[in-house]
Amino acid sequence: MKITVLTLFKEMYDGFLNTSIISRVLSKKEHEIKLVDIRDYSHDRHRHVDDTPYGGGAGMLMKVDVVHEAIMNNKDEDTYVLLTSPKAKPLTQDDLKRLSKKEKLMIVCGHYEGIDSRIEKYIDEQVSIGDYILTGGELASMVICDGILRLLDESISSDSLKEESYENGLLEYPQYTRPVEYDGMEVPFVLTNGNHKEIERYNLKMAIKETMKYRPEMLNRELSDQEVLLIKEIEDEL
Ligand code: SAH
Repeated sequence: MKITVLTLFKEMYDGFLNTSIISRVLSKKEHEIKLVDIRDYSHDRHRHVDDTPYGGGAGMLMKVDVVHEAIMNNKDEDTYVLLTSPKAKPLTQDDLKRLSKKEKLMIVCGHYEGIDSRIEKYIDEQVSIGDYILTGGELASMVICDGILRLLDESISSDSLKEESYENGLLEYPQYTRPVEYDGMEVPFVLTNGNHKEIERYNLKMAIKETMKYRPEMLNRELSDQEVLLIKEIEDEL
């Protein structure tokens, strides 16, 4: 996977690209993140990339000609182009999975008040990372890259990916590590007794309980027989 990020602030990626799992995935050379400075496509010697909006209004808008040229000079025919934007439907794990199958992605980061709306002609999809406004698309693009590269990382076992929150229509069950007792809180006994069938059932039940507590709307779907049974069990215990 090659991801090209168009930004005005390449330096924001320094820590991100050189840390932990992301730096490990990128060191394998199969995957690449290329940073492009949109300012390199400015047309004037002061390297302007923005201008005041027509019709008035606050702030500055990035210019469509500059951003379009940055896109065209850095994409191939088969590159899928994303625009970070607070207007889109918020990103989900399913979106990340879908995007992780592309060979070549480009992510365009807006800044200031955003980009001249005519940029949409050159974009395949707009992506938001949530219903709030950030100063720029850089953090959003890092969120997208992080989520995708994590899925492509071979050293994260597929088992661990399968059990995660949002994978099975449930949040992940609570997990514990040593010590077995801390500040009066004990690790549930069933997890320490080595009976794998019991552990599996317990974890599924806890995943359902966690989902009922934090994201009950995720259970408004077709449920398996075992899920129905466990929900009843949880309700009876309340
Ligand atoms: N005036 C715009 C917001 C501009 S914020 C509006 O009201 O819609 C500047 C840039 O930050 C945007 O162009 C986008 O690239 C990025 N951005 C801000 N919030 C975002 C979010 N929630 N998700 C993705 N990108 C975001």
